[in-house]
Amino acid sequence: MTDLAVIVPVYDEVQSIEQFHNELLTVLGTLGLVWRVLYVDDGSCDGSSDVLERLASLDGHISVIELSRNFGKEAAITAGLDFTDSDAVVIMDADLQHPPEMIVEFVKHWRNGTDVVFARRRNRYIESVLKRVGSRLFYKILRYSSDVDIPEDVGDFRLMSRRAVEAVRKLRERHRFMKGLFAWIGFEQKYVEYDCVSRSAGHSKWGLGQLMNFALDGVTSFSIRPLRISSIFGAVIAILSFFYGSWIIIKTLVFGDPVPGFPSLMVVILFLGGIQLLALGLIGEYIGRTFGESKRRPIYVVKDIKNPADLLIEPQLSHPNQNDAAREGQSG
Ligand code: UDP
Ligand code: MG
Repeated sequence: MTDLAVIVPVYDEVQSIEQFHNELLTVLGTLGLVWRVLYVDDGSCDGSSDVLERLASLDGHISVIELSRNFGKEAAITAGLDFTDSDAVVIMDADLQHPPEMIVEFVKHWRNGTDVVFARRRNRYIESVLKRVGSRLFYKILRYSSDVDIPEDVGDFRLMSRRAVEAVRKLRERHRFMKGLFAWIGFEQKYVEYDCVSRSAGHSKWGLGQLMNFALDGVTSFSIRPLRISSIFGAVIAILSFFYGSWIIIKTLVFGDPVPGFPSLMVVILFLGGIQLLALGLIGEYIGRTFGESKRRPIYVVKDIKNPADLLIEPQLSHPNQNDAAREGQSG
């Protein structure tokens, strides 16, 4: 039985993976726990796979799950969570931005009975001003619009107890906004602060486009408030135009029909056109999400597992509802 499993999603990290591995193992050795490191190879094509394979062949505590292609960090983390069967799980990045020493603090809190311990960045100075302002704004909108309390300046670096992992495992949605999912499960959550450092090597896989997608995903997967706001906005405009229309009719009847106001007409048409397109796009966003979920595709596909000892070999890969249906079929 493993006490602590460390899940590390890896996508093209050949420059940092070995240094990361050594630092991680040094820390794990001091904990006095039975540990396992689970690398999830998210379709790397820069030689990371060979390095991971070698690490696994040298040490039985190292497992590697190889995905069939690049599915994204969220899917890789999900794969890791699906396969672990330990009392606690730590999730961390392989680029040395998450200091392994923090695990010691995590474990302390966990031993005191906390189910979720997450790391919180004390500073964001290494990021550009644009990224910082954007992220502030994003969190403002997210916190306003969503129903769960999603903490700011928090990444995926965290420890979760077995029951917290089991709760996350039940959330099988395809658009995986992990911060939101981790907040959604509840439980007692504590945080430990750390100083954010630059990537040791390579580059972040997050461009501006991905960040914008991420922000949109975050807001739309955790609330339908944007839809509600546009309905309210539509209603307000409809009421205002009713009064404005009545006023125009009365004015025309009483004072006759002077030269009509072309500019004001244009402004109103353009304004309403814009609002309508925005609202349509918003509806489309939610429909697209429904479409994606309705296909019920698996979140990832596993190609190979190295050192599967202690792992859950048949994890819950399928949709929970399908499982329920299958179980009902058996019993009935
Ligand atoms: N990662 C992954 N799949 C991806 C992109 C990233 O498994 O498609 C891994 C990557 O190898 C690293 C972690 O996720 O271990 C964080 O990635 P990155 O540093 O690009 O994200 P950031 O730190 O900028 O949030
Ligand atoms: Mg990083």
